[in-house]
Amino acid sequence: MSQSRDEQRNDARDPRASVHCPYCGSEATEPLALFGKQLLTVQMYCQDCHTPFEYVKDDAILQVFEARKGNHA
Ligand SMILES: [Zn+2]
Repeated sequence: MSQSRDEQRNDARDPRASVHCPYCGSEATEPLALFGKQLLTVQMYCQDCHTPFEYVKDDAILQVFEARKGNHA
């Protein structure tokens, strides 16, 4: 008889806004645009493999955008 225990869940995400590239796994990513094709995503750009990708918005990434936003029209 086997019990399936699911106590250990390392699902906690890094609170820092370090977005890993889904293609090469690099952290050298930068935000491209706040709104991607969908409102729930932002467009990111990997500086290592030079590939744009979409990233699901969260509070951390929004703070990155706020910090980078220089002019507010
Ligand atoms: Zn990459």
